[in-house]
Amino acid sequence: MKVLKFGGSSVATIEKIQSIAAYLKERAKQEKMVVVVSAMGKTTNHLIELAHAISANPNQRELDRLLSIGEQQTIALLAMALWEIEVPAVSLTAYQVGIRTTGYHTKSTIKQVETETLLDQLDSHEVVIVAGFQGINYLNDITTLGRGGSDTTAVALAAALGCDCEIYTDVAGIYTMDPRVYPQAKKIKEISYYEMMEMASLGSKVMEPRSVELGQKYGVKIYVGKTLSDEEGTYIMNSELISEEKVISAASLNDKIIHVKLLQEGHEPSVVAHVFKVISDHQVNVDVITQHVTPLMTEVEFTCSQEEEAFLAEAMNQIKSELPDLKVSLNTHVAKVSVVGIGMRHAVGVAAKIFQILEENHIEFKQVATSEISISLIVDLDDGKKACQAICAAFDL
Ligand code: ASP
Ligand code: MG
Repeated sequence: MKVLKFGGSSVATIEKIQSIAAYLKERAKQEKMVVVVSAMGKTTNHLIELAHAISANPNQRELDRLLSIGEQQTIALLAMALWEIEVPAVSLTAYQVGIRTTGYHTKSTIKQVETETLLDQLDSHEVVIVAGFQGINYLNDITTLGRGGSDTTAVALAAALGCDCEIYTDVAGIYTMDPRVYPQAKKIKEISYYEMMEMASLGSKVMEPRSVELGQKYGVKIYVGKTLSDEEGTYIMNSELISEEKVISAASLNDKIIHVKLLQEGHEPSVVAHVFKVISDHQVNVDVITQHVTPLMTEVEFTCSQEEEAFLAEAMNQIKSELPDLKVSLNTHVAKVSVVGIGMRHAVGVAAKIFQILEENHIEFKQVATSEISISLIVDLDDGKKACQAICAAFDL
């Protein structure tokens, strides 16, 4: 058995859905398949626009109901396309499968997947098609899993069924760097869950970070490849199974971030604690944080995703009204450049080399953050591409 997932661009038109059906018909001769699909093309974006045409801040429960219909359209069309070529297929929503979620609307987390209905339906059909991106919470309300969440659905189903997962998209796998930024980037054959998670959360958009996290937790081998292509893709797997451990495996550029600077006179640690409490109460996921204390003032900087701009603005309004003396400035003209590599755990001098590369290219950075296997730098938006290209060239990525 296999779980296959096709992303939005792969099911964007009726012709594409029919081609996928024909491909599934061939594969169904060898194995049973659970197929997860996303909404057609830009459907989810259009649904969000509709909601925003009514309200700047739509009711979140109703927004989730609206967002979930994109995937429901695709599952029905794909099932019809399969019946049309005589392949017994059935489509299921998350409610029918029993994909249980927790957490907030529009960014909920899968906590459990029932397998009974899936297995029953697999007995009587060759292909079972499941709507990605959706689940149901303890109230039986529909929730969605955050943008790109169909990947998570696919990996969660593979984990529950104990099988491998294949993710099909419009790119042929995971590259050392986004080829649009660095055309010489190479395709990676095998990459560890750790590196992939780090890359995904640092802004490489091929996989949704939480799907990789789930894959690691349940040991699901994930293949990422191009839809309906013979070109070999990338395997995401346990680091122990990977033959070559590189110091730096990949780089990424994220230009959809916000850099926030808070200036406070003196040093009152409770202020910082309070500020971050308010930010987290508004469900803003804070990334790189740095603090700089002098005898006269405290400066705290952090970054977050531009997707959370509305929540951040609410949080900042509350903070400004509670702490009128705090100076707050927001900057979206920034980018985050990151490098990832599991070999960095044992290597020295990686940061030094990166600083030298930046220096040689006259690029200044505002912030730097490291994890055991990554280094991220916040630079001016105009320097983002250049910094990535220089780093990729220097590390032969
Ligand atoms: N349709 C959803 C989105 O556009 C989920 C997905 O594509 O994975 O974010
Ligand atoms: Mg998508």
